[in-house]
Amino acid sequence: MIDLHSHTDESDGTFTPDELVAEAVRIGLSALAITDHDTLRGYELALPFAVEAKLELICGIELSTRYGGASVHLLGYFPCATPPAGFRAWLDFLLESRRDRNRRLIERLQSLGVEITLEEVERRGRSLTGRPHFARILVEKGYAKDIQDAFHEYLDESAKGFVQRQEVPIEEAIERLVAAGGVASLAHPIRVAKNDWTRLSEYVENMAAMGMRAIEVYHSDHTPENVAFYLSLAKKFNLAPTGGSDFHGGNKPLISLGTGLRNNLAIPDEILAGLKKAL
Ligand code: AMP
Ligand code: FE
Ligand code: FE
Ligand code: ZN
Repeated sequence: MIDLHSHTDESDGTFTPDELVAEAVRIGLSALAITDHDTLRGYELALPFAVEAKLELICGIELSTRYGGASVHLLGYFPCATPPAGFRAWLDFLLESRRDRNRRLIERLQSLGVEITLEEVERRGRSLTGRPHFARILVEKGYAKDIQDAFHEYLDESAKGFVQRQEVPIEEAIERLVAAGGVASLAHPIRVAKNDWTRLSEYVENMAAMGMRAIEVYHSDHTPENVAFYLSLAKKFNLAPTGGSDFHGGNKPLISLGTGLRNNLAIPDEILAGLKKAL
């Protein structure tokens, strides 16, 4: 069993890289991909622990991109060689646009009467500070009853505190992933095109034409019906099916590494072989 979608505390998970490796070993995974948002630091820190534990660790990334006026998450995998310096420099540029979003988000929350400062939120993040870090502080200060409530009241796209982040067009993200020697996979397609299957199919066809070579068929949020449909899209557009739990530790407490939501995942090793072939 493998898991190709997970986050450490270098982005918005709560497990340190070594804790994540230990959890993967504990549940008996044969391979794990770390796909932190906008940073490779969690993978780099985890690597020596994975080598020691003889766990196959895949270098990955999750990028927030723009497609058709909406935000679409894209996974990138580097199963053979880690990305070159130019790609890493581009990630630093993405981290800077995230900081700019965070400054504006603080101003917005303050204007809503929330007592919060950029410094206290940034203290919670490591390589980056994301909305889950904001959510924790909103809960601790009593502005929300839990993380979900903090997103619902303040941080979700439809909530009163939301500010837009400058996102890269998906075409550019796919190009950069491919140029860096990676495979691009559409993350959790259930969140794309409001799960309108006809539109989703058109979108996936376009993304495949841009160079995307995989699609995340298996994910904690996908029903068996979703999985069957995404598998049909993978076949139709010649994409490798990928999958993972999207584990975030305590930031998404119902989701377990490897087994997903209430044991709805068991991703076989062949999926990783298929991803390598898509390179
Ligand atoms: P950011 O990249 O800083 O905009 O934060 C986005 C991250 O927030 C996502 O990757 C999720 O991990 C998390 N997130 C988004 N919506 C929710 C939600 N409703 N509940 C919990 N976490 C969420
Ligand atoms: Fe996340
Ligand atoms: Fe995502
Ligand atoms: Zn994720």
